[in-house]
Amino acid sequence: MQTYQLRINGRWRDSSTGEFFDSYDPFTGKPWASVARGSAADVDDAVHAAHDALTNSAWSQMTASARGKLLHRLGDAIAANSAELARTEVRDNGKLFAEMSAQTAYIPEWFYYYGGLADKIEGSVVPLDKKGYFAYTTSAPVGVVGIITPWNSPLLLLTWKLAAALAAGCTVVIKPSEHTSASTLEFVALLEEAGLPAGVVNVVTGFGQEVGSPLVDHPLVRRVSFTGSDATGSRIGAQAAGGIKHVGLELGGKSPNIIFDDADLDAAVNGAVSGIFAATGQTCIAGSRLLVQSSVHDEVVRRVVELSKTARMGDPADPDTQVGPVTTRDQYEKVLSYIEIARSEGAQLSLGGAAATRPECGDGWFVEPTIFTGVDNSSRIAQEEVFGPVLSVIRFDDEAEAIAIANDSRYGLGAGVWTSDMARAFRMTAAIESGTVWVNTYRAVSYMMPFGGVKESGLGRENGISAVDDYLETKSVWINTGAPSGNPFVLK
Ligand code: NAD
Repeated sequence: MQTYQLRINGRWRDSSTGEFFDSYDPFTGKPWASVARGSAADVDDAVHAAHDALTNSAWSQMTASARGKLLHRLGDAIAANSAELARTEVRDNGKLFAEMSAQTAYIPEWFYYYGGLADKIEGSVVPLDKKGYFAYTTSAPVGVVGIITPWNSPLLLLTWKLAAALAAGCTVVIKPSEHTSASTLEFVALLEEAGLPAGVVNVVTGFGQEVGSPLVDHPLVRRVSFTGSDATGSRIGAQAAGGIKHVGLELGGKSPNIIFDDADLDAAVNGAVSGIFAATGQTCIAGSRLLVQSSVHDEVVRRVVELSKTARMGDPADPDTQVGPVTTRDQYEKVLSYIEIARSEGAQLSLGGAAATRPECGDGWFVEPTIFTGVDNSSRIAQEEVFGPVLSVIRFDDEAEAIAIANDSRYGLGAGVWTSDMARAFRMTAAIESGTVWVNTYRAVSYMMPFGGVKESGLGRENGISAVDDYLETKSVWINTGAPSGNPFVLK
């Protein structure tokens, strides 16, 4: 068993309680690491370390250009260690090595992009409507940021927040998911080895109530950037409002992937299968509702089922594996329970529908790629986020019906449209209520492209130039260049 401590102010240390908890390998179902169980006292130490770094340190004295160059060096260090970081994530969350290594190799780009942005954060001179003043704005870091992340893509989702926060000059306390703490700790230690000053980024591992909640409540934390479930996000949003804090929420989804009869069906079928079964369906943008036009419905279903049957399951560290385990035992049980819910709702099972018992799956938490057809969009399997390898196929007749079904959801994170009619593509992208719409592709993301949800999928956007504004406060400065202020109590 490997042991992981807290990382506060550039040092490893035990939690104030001295307690640890187990982190499990989803492929074996057994614990592989022991992680420090942080407390509110540890959060307080970490936030003070971050606040000291913000107000009085090499970091706070650094010019924006130097900060940008430092971010580039951090990117280089991540690039040099990306395979190692990927291996830790595979061990901790069961994602395929093939997918993880592509992800960790892509992460440096966020540090290069936001590093380039660091010294382009400018204020402006305002041409005032009043004479006798020189007025301008400056931008300052918002303060200490609390970052709370989920287990499904620990480093990538952390990076979306961290690179922008560092470019803005903020300091940070991270609370990773209790299911996947290891890679975040290794990542932060790596950044410090590459020159990030101590205290700029701190990590307190542990549970939501014991670490996450005190982090949100801490008076020196001025912004909370959260990715996770909508239930937790709603609670955190309310808590942050109590302290009048900025908050960014990246939450769940039930994304529609819509295939019209004029689509390139080969591409659409590939997109439908990777949209739901990549990362074992454990992505917020999983295309979990497949909407298929009636005229091609049976053919698309047949082809999606045939292709899904070929998925090789097994050890996520094996480069040939195509579908890995579910990350946690709780999530595994939740996925199986949703399969039962779909059955009881009358959906027809076209593939899978059970725990995977193939020999190559060993004792891991595997669920067979599962496809339900004849799903009613008002049923629970179509409305609630499963976060696993379960696809609901829903039939529609025309564009208006496709839009109505797509938008009949409390979520609005991602959507796919497969069509060869570009006018239709434009109409659909305008009509679908979601933060991202992909046309004839699915699941593409970039550091350059804003990402976030509408409706109950979240608040705010990550990635792209404007994401850095979330980590800045504007200050308005008025300088009197005209007559000195007169005595207000002397009548003229
Ligand atoms: P979760 O909400 O259970 O946990 C997320 C984080 O919040 C964890 O670190 C957890 O310890 C912490 N937490 C739990 N209770 C807390 C509390 N009371 N106060 C503060 N922190 C608390 O989510 P999860 O199961 O880890 O992740 C899966 C969810 O994340 C899915 O709903 C998925 O859609 C969503 N997600 C969204 C995006 C996106 O960008 N929109 C990306 C990935 C995952």
